[in-house]
Amino acid sequence: LDLRNEDLKELRELGQGNGGSVKLVEHIPTGKIMAKKIVLIDAKPAVRKQILRELQIMHDCNSKYIISFWGAYLAEPNICICMEAMDKGSFDGIYKKTGAIDIDIVGKVALAVLEGLTYLYDKHRIIHRDIKPSNILCNSAGEIKICDFGVSGELINSIADTFVGTSTYMSPERIQGAQYTVKSDVWSLGVSLIELALGRFPFSESLSDDSDLSDLEGTLSPARPGSMNSLASLGLPPPRKRNSAAAKKDKRKSKGVSLQGGGMTMSILELLQHIVNEPAPKLTPEGRFPEQAEAFVDSCLLKDPDQRKSPKELLNDEWIIYSRTSDVDLQAWTSTF
Ligand code: ADP
Ligand code: MG
Repeated sequence: LDLRNEDLKELRELGQGNGGSVKLVEHIPTGKIMAKKIVLIDAKPAVRKQILRELQIMHDCNSKYIISFWGAYLAEPNICICMEAMDKGSFDGIYKKTGAIDIDIVGKVALAVLEGLTYLYDKHRIIHRDIKPSNILCNSAGEIKICDFGVSGELINSIADTFVGTSTYMSPERIQGAQYTVKSDVWSLGVSLIELALGRFPFSESLSDDSDLSDLEGTLSPARPGSMNSLASLGLPPPRKRNSAAAKKDKRKSKGVSLQGGGMTMSILELLQHIVNEPAPKLTPEGRFPEQAEAFVDSCLLKDPDQRKSPKELLNDEWIIYSRTSDVDLQAWTSTF
């Protein structure tokens, strides 16, 4: 399928992220409905071409737990990535509509993400790197799939040049500057599952009762050059060296990243420090959720990556085995919102 920008008719916006926006489009020649992600990249033409080449690997990613890829092309100064559109959107939007999600459905989400991660790593040696509720999608057929995985090293570099890719779903070892491994994705899955089951971001409680994390959106860029000094003082990795154009862009995009509430202020830096230094979050209160679910989440959130299991190993976890057989009707569930 040869995709050209002029053949795609925009129907509506599906969402906005830090790197760009996602539109629902119709491919006029075929009538196919797709999601078009527009990524603004500050990179030389040779690098853009390299990114496009790397993205082609996605053509070979065929799994019912992975969003299908229709193609990518340059529309200067953007790169457009066209993929399967999921009509029920992402799980962050879903729980914000429905409130806390039933634990049996959360179990199906865990199973789908583990299957998707295992496929990506076993078949393609790809580590996802950005597991969070907004990258877990659902459709009205009751299918759950992951998107936005790190296929292109050059794309990861280009985005890191523009936005410091710091996320509140990041594992303690990543915050401290260690390499990504499949186990970092398992940590992010644990945080995401708690968020769906509780209907709120798990670290919001450790901040203060009424902190507002709503404009944090998971991914952050430093608010001021001064905040980079704080990164060092926390023993966190220094941000990558960036060119001045990227620094300017950051200033424009920067959001208030201080979290205020109850007379207490917690910056994103303190939150990252908290993730590194404090006990991992849990499915709380004790007894509200099945023990097997609690135990699974605990095993995702082991702070030592050597103790944490890989996605493939976790497919043999008791709760995951139960979730595979549980007869919760996902299709019927999706018709409730
Ligand atoms: P983020 O994942 O950080 O929210 P993105 O730019 O990747 O930022 O996506 C923005 C939003 O667009 C997502 O939150 C999601 O709700 C929506 N979205 C992304 N891809 C798709 C898709 N293939 N189908 C339906 N909605 C999508
Ligand atoms: Mg995304």
